[in-house]
Amino acid sequence: MLRVWTEAGYAAPAMAPVQLSCEIDGCTASWSVASPKLMKKSMDVHRAEFHPGWVKPDPAPMTAYRLDFSGRGRQF
Ligand SMILES: [Zn+2]
Repeated sequence: MLRVWTEAGYAAPAMAPVQLSCEIDGCTASWSVASPKLMKKSMDVHRAEFHPGWVKPDPAPMTAYRLDFSGRGRQF
C-alpha cells in the first residue's frame, strides 16, 4: 500500500528522462526513457527484442544461496 503510493507520488512530478541499462548476459545496452512510468515497459520491450529466452530469476536460487551461506558458516 505504502509502496504503491510512494511510486505514484514519485512518478507524477518527475518529467526528467530516466537512464536505463541492461546487464543481462553481458549486454551493456543503455538508453533513456521520458519518465519513470515508462521504465518497466521499456525494459520489457528490450528484453523481448534482445533477450527473448530470458526469464526472471525465481526465489529458488536465493534459497540455495542461503543454504550455501549457512553451510559455509558451519564449516568455520
Ligand atoms: Zn539487453
